[in-house]
Amino acid sequence: LWGTVRNFLKRNGLLTLSVIAVLTGCTLGFMLRGTQLSTQAKIYFSFPGELLMRMLKMLILPLITSSLMSGLSSMESKACCRMGVLTVTYYLWTTFIAVVVGILLVIIIKPGVGTEMDSNRLGGGPVMTSADALLDLIRTILPNFVYVVPDDSDPKGRTVYLELTPPPEIMYKTSPGSSQQMNVLGIVIFSATMGLLLGRMGERGAPLVNVCQCINECVMKIINAAVWYFPFGIIFLVAGKILDMQDPSTLGKKLGWYGITVLAGLFVHGLILLPLFYFILTRKNPFSYIRGLLQALVIALATSSSSATLPITMKCLLENCHVDRQIARFVLPVGATINMDGTALYEAVAAIFIAQVNDYELDFGQLVTISITATAASIGAAGIPQAGLVTMVIVLTSVGLPPDDITLIVAIDWILDRFRTMINVLGDALAAGIIAHLCRKDFPLSREGKVKKQEFV
Ligand code: ASP
Repeated sequence: LWGTVRNFLKRNGLLTLSVIAVLTGCTLGFMLRGTQLSTQAKIYFSFPGELLMRMLKMLILPLITSSLMSGLSSMESKACCRMGVLTVTYYLWTTFIAVVVGILLVIIIKPGVGTEMDSNRLGGGPVMTSADALLDLIRTILPNFVYVVPDDSDPKGRTVYLELTPPPEIMYKTSPGSSQQMNVLGIVIFSATMGLLLGRMGERGAPLVNVCQCINECVMKIINAAVWYFPFGIIFLVAGKILDMQDPSTLGKKLGWYGITVLAGLFVHGLILLPLFYFILTRKNPFSYIRGLLQALVIALATSSSSATLPITMKCLLENCHVDRQIARFVLPVGATINMDGTALYEAVAAIFIAQVNDYELDFGQLVTISITATAASIGAAGIPQAGLVTMVIVLTSVGLPPDDITLIVAIDWILDRFRTMINVLGDALAAGIIAHLCRKDFPLSREGKVKKQEFV
């Protein structure tokens, strides 16, 4: 027995440490909740966790640009087009199916029915219309890399932002905090276009492709080293979050049922439907594939961010699942940006729960509207903690529900966010396996079993 345990630990040491870190973080967080820590002390306490998030976020930009540019530049246009169309079609379908699962469950379980609320609050002026949301999404696709913002205190003064973070008025006007997010969708579109063009430039484009390959190699090496810090960072990330947790609102039991409905939906979609699609499309065992992804799933649980998890998902796919490198370099960054099955499911459940709480009957047309807007809202959501909460305004306003009612579900959102992020990451990774199988003729390396354990870089 000891031999088996030792072998397991040898192969899954990091994973085991990460799981222990999540549990330790939870215990520590709940123990410290009783003590009256000052804000300053909380900041110091959460610092190792903050470093983990910063480390992961630091890697996103170089990873996405170098992966997409070097990956797409070396592909034939026909293969590239086929893979692109398959990927986007698969992503849209699975997101839509996730929404349908969520809608069915919330209608069956009815977590919000029977709550006494003042229904006069309905019809409050929408903060943002669907048209505004669409325009914001299109703005995001074409990012400005440099912003010049007038400085109010000095009429001649200008502040120049060289970061990829749009100023507040550009992205998601609904939430001041959301302006902090990196415009990953914009980066993906820009890098993919550059990659495609570099591929057509032949010899002239080769130096830049080489640079991208070198950056990619370096980023992967940094990830390999950084993963050893993760278990330590996770403890403080999780404990810090628990320390900051708000107490549940007055809805109490209803909120509990709402949480159970979301979790049940995520379970059905992530552990039954997605593996089933994987099996039907590839005829391979989905669960042995998922086993290779466990490290990424734990990081998703700890960070609540599919973008921040991207480097680890990439590592797992290449090292454990042996997915073709070119496919992983395209399917994963695009998926981390537009494919959020967990988020879409949760948005639909939350919108209908809020309708039930308000005793507001939704007709079939409104359910269809919810399913479409929840799909769109999940595409627009960034892969960062609680981004889904922000884009949910689109879903609520589309059927005339008060956007302010988001506050009803905020108390437990941080925990649901962790689980939906896991399903978002799982969806992207399973998609990479499926696309690799479907495109195996274009990318012969992706045929499982034909390649030895792929070198990570
Ligand atoms: N936190 C999620 C993610 O990063 C997005 C969300 O649903 O809020 O995938």
